[in-house]
Amino acid sequence: MKPSPELSIIIPMYNEDSHIEKSLFTIVEIVRQAITSFEVIVVDDGSRDGTWTALQTLLPRISELKALRLSRNFGKELALCAGLEHAVGRAVIVMDGDLQHPPNLIPEMIRLWREEKYAIVECVKESRGKEPLLKKIGATLFYGTLNRLTGYNLKNASDFKLLDAIVVQAWRGLQERNTFFRGMTAWVGFRKTTIPFRVMPREHGTSRWGFIKLARLAVESIVSFSTIPLRLVSLLGIVFSIGAITLGIHTVWKKLFGGAVTGFTTVILLQLIIGGLLMISIGIVGEYISAIYHEVKGRPRYLISEKISNSEGQSQIEV
Ligand code: UDP
Ligand code: MG
Repeated sequence: MKPSPELSIIIPMYNEDSHIEKSLFTIVEIVRQAITSFEVIVVDDGSRDGTWTALQTLLPRISELKALRLSRNFGKELALCAGLEHAVGRAVIVMDGDLQHPPNLIPEMIRLWREEKYAIVECVKESRGKEPLLKKIGATLFYGTLNRLTGYNLKNASDFKLLDAIVVQAWRGLQERNTFFRGMTAWVGFRKTTIPFRVMPREHGTSRWGFIKLARLAVESIVSFSTIPLRLVSLLGIVFSIGAITLGIHTVWKKLFGGAVTGFTTVILLQLIIGGLLMISIGIVGEYISAIYHEVKGRPRYLISEKISNSEGQSQIEV
């Protein structure tokens, strides 16, 4: 039996057939010069284009390649999760499949892990690269909120990381269904270092993340890492109750000792404001309930429909 590889490279891919060949060859070429024993696990996250066919044709040409095909698009977070659960290396490197994460940093990541014994080598964005304005604003808002609420500064964090097997093991122990890779690697701790990098322009096509997908990820990540929004709801309740009591006393006082109570506009405004706040509050509570609901259902995080690799021969179906 072949000894297990020293390093596993995990690459989630969704509809990347236009440049999959170039990406994989570039990455493999660089990694080969840095380490002799490694595997490349590409997770096809339910692509609708020719990504899977491309992987099948690339298999005989890249001996280190393994590919997993998810039964549908589960999203990058879960695709990563599938890759991490299948990795056997003594360390894993997670990276995007569009060459936005410069592969020439890989030798340095390996050196820091091997020689300086860092358990996590994290590549942090020196600049966010070319992004639409809305995405930049959204990212600033999201990371600002997350930092305030959880204390993790993930502003320039990326998913381009090396993790020692011990971290992967710890990560596997976190059983939540709703995974947020950056948050979870910050949560586990361990000895960590960073390498700054410039995000490269996308090789082909456009970002696979639409605005709604990103907004959903932002809400889910905050809900899974902080319960402060729930406390804010209670705090808001207390503040408004104090206001209500004061105003109540004032109104009764006026009724008994002053003239007639006017203030139709105030009443309407208060109704609207309190109504709006109540709905937001119920919404926040609802987000947490939906998170609990997803967790207790205990469904598998993802389903694999096919696996191919050179070491195991032909494909097998696993659903
Ligand atoms: N990706 C994925 N599933 C998805 C969306 C994206 O596996 O549902 C992969 C995608 O193929 C790429 C990586 O995640 O390899 C990063 O995606 P993208 O480049 O679209 O994101 P961005 O660079 O804009 O953050
Ligand atoms: Mg990208």
